[in-house]
Amino acid sequence: MTALVIAEHDHASIKPATLNTVTAALACGGDVHVLVAGANAAEAGKAAAQIAGVSKVIVADSPSLAENLAENVAAQVLAIASNYSHILFPSTANGKNVAPRVAAKLDVAQISDITKVDSPDTFERPIYAGNAIATVQSSDATKVITVRTTGFDAAAVTGGTATVETAEGVADSGKSSFVGREVTKSERPELTAAKIIVSGGRALGSAEKFTEVMAPLADKLNAGLGASRAAVDAGYAPNDWQVGQTGKIVAPQLYIAAGISGAIQHLAGMKDSKVIVAINKDEEAPIFSVADYGLVADLFVAVPELVKAL
Ligand SMILES: Cc1cc2nc3c(=O)[nH]c(=O)nc-3n(C[C@H](O)[C@H](O)[C@H](O)COP(=O)(O)OP(=O)(O)OC[C@H]3O[C@@H](n4cnc5c(N)ncnc54)[C@H](O)[C@@H]3O)c2cc1C
Repeated sequence: MTALVIAEHDHASIKPATLNTVTAALACGGDVHVLVAGANAAEAGKAAAQIAGVSKVIVADSPSLAENLAENVAAQVLAIASNYSHILFPSTANGKNVAPRVAAKLDVAQISDITKVDSPDTFERPIYAGNAIATVQSSDATKVITVRTTGFDAAAVTGGTATVETAEGVADSGKSSFVGREVTKSERPELTAAKIIVSGGRALGSAEKFTEVMAPLADKLNAGLGASRAAVDAGYAPNDWQVGQTGKIVAPQLYIAAGISGAIQHLAGMKDSKVIVAINKDEEAPIFSVADYGLVADLFVAVPELVKAL
C-alpha cells in the first residue's frame, strides 16, 4: 500500500499545504511518495525529499507543467496512478482543480476535504458547513482524496531521506493554454499560512475604516488580514480576504474577530483556530460561542486600545 501526494510548489520550493497532506498520507498506513510535477523543478524535488516520512520523490519535468495547467498535471498523475492505493491532493484551488479530473479518469469517487483518516479506507469529512462530520468508507481500488490542510499537522520540512526519481513529463494536452496570471502581492502573511489572523466584519462600515482600524492591529501582530463575507460583499475588504465556507478555511494560532457576528458560514472557516478572540458590542453574538476570549465592546474603541497596549 503506497500513497502518492501531489505537491503544491513553485518549482523551486514546496508550499506548506503539501506538508499537511503528507501527514494525512502517512495516516493511511503505507509508504508515502511525493510527485513534483513542474518545469525546472529539481529544487522543489530536493526540498520534497527532505520532508519527514516521505520515502520517494518523483520529479516530472516538462515545459507542459510550467504553468500548472490542470489538464496536464492530471495527465501526469494518471501516468503513474496505477502504482498507488491512495492519491492525495491538498484541498487548495490547485488541488481541487486537478483531483476531480484524476478521479473521473480512474472511474472512482473522489473523497473530498478529509479532516481525519480512521483507517486506510475510512475517512472523516465535515458537511453542512462543518456542523456535522460524515464518516466515509470507500471500496474503490484507488482512493482519490483532497485533504483539508487545517485538519492535519504539518510534516517536518527536514529529517526525510527520500530517494529522488525522475519521470518523463507528459506532452501538452492541447486542451488549455496559459494566457496570463495576476498575482496579488502583499507584505502580509498569506491567510492560509498565517500564524495570526485579524478579521473584520460588517461593523467596520467602510473600506477606509476597515484599513484605519484593522491594519494597525495586523501590523503590530505581523498578522494576516481576513474579513467576513458581509465585509467583502460591501467592498470593505478584497475578495481573497474572505474567511468561511465560501472563502478560505484557516486555523491559525490566534484568530481575532472584530465586529463579526459569527454566522455558521463564517465559523466554518475559522473555528479550528487554536485561540479565538472575539470583539463584539452584542454580548449575544454567536461568535462568543466559539471564542476563547470575548470582549463585549465597541471595536472602534477596543481595537485602537489594543494596538496601543501592544
Ligand atoms: C451559502 C452562504 C455562504 C456564505 N459564506 C460565508 C463565508 O465564507 N464567510 C462569511 O463570513 N460569511 C459567509 N456567509 C454569510 C454569513 O451568513 C453572514 O451573513 C456573514 O458572515 C455576516 O458577516 P458579519 O458577521 O460581518 O456581519 P453581521 O452578521 O451583520 O454582524 C456584524 C456584527 O458586528 C457587531 N457590531 C456592530 N457594530 C459594532 C461595533 N461598533 N463594535 C463591535 N461590534 C459591532 C454586531 O453586533 C454584529 O454581531 C455565507 C452565507 C451563505 C448563505
